[in-house]
Amino acid sequence: ARDVPALEVKDLWSGYGEQDVLRGIDISLKPGSIVALIGANGAGKSTLLRTISGLIRPRRGEIRLGGEVLSGLAPHRIVERGFVQSPEGKQLFLDMSIRENLLVGAANPRARARRQETLEEVFDLFPILKERQAYNASTLSGGQQQMVAVGRALMALPRVLALDEPSLGLAPIMVDRLFESIARIRERDLTILIIEQNVFQVLEMADYGYVLENGAVTLSGTGPDLLANDHLRASYLGL
Ligand code: ATP
Repeated sequence: ARDVPALEVKDLWSGYGEQDVLRGIDISLKPGSIVALIGANGAGKSTLLRTISGLIRPRRGEIRLGGEVLSGLAPHRIVERGFVQSPEGKQLFLDMSIRENLLVGAANPRARARRQETLEEVFDLFPILKERQAYNASTLSGGQQQMVAVGRALMALPRVLALDEPSLGLAPIMVDRLFESIARIRERDLTILIIEQNVFQVLEMADYGYVLENGAVTLSGTGPDLLANDHLRASYLGL
């Protein structure tokens, strides 16, 4: 069923307390694609991921993963169904080994059954983590910790992997390497939703992008279309 979106969000409204943050979001991700979510600080990107993850209950709208309704499920059920988020700020257990940090990702029953194989796949993707697997996560550089965060999310066997600013705080060379890794993850037939401040780099890699402003999608299109768009160039690339 290649025509069923990997993830579909329709007329999604969500927020904190009385305050609406998302005001009628529509997005749709084709299976196997990389989709970028772009927008200024406070536009609602993280709130969108938190709402899809089930951490915030939507006021209105529908979220479907591979055609199945996700909205209303508990966060751990949503991970089990296959929407897995690698959170902004990594949130590793610094006093645990790299291997243990990765295994934490495989807590759901579907993932636990295959965790040895998945661990080998993550080590293939990030060989440095295999070498260092017995060391505490605190011994890693920022870029390597980001690899652990992405690897941990992969351990949950996502169908859709969401990355919240994976390049945050990384040196440019590490950002390049991380983007290469993300492009390789795509070869696993996984769908990726990525929030990034590196707008140029992410749109060069992405199949499609959405621009969020004030909790609504104001622009969407293929990577090349968005990179050629005057409003996007002026607002997000300073061109
Ligand atoms: P950033 O790049 O800064 O993370 P963002 O696009 O991800 O930006 P959100 O973090 O989703 O934006 O924030 C959207 C709005 O929701 C902002 O106005 C923010 O102040 C508000 N907000 C975020 N988290 C909370 C919270 N826990 N409680 C109340 N308001 C919040």
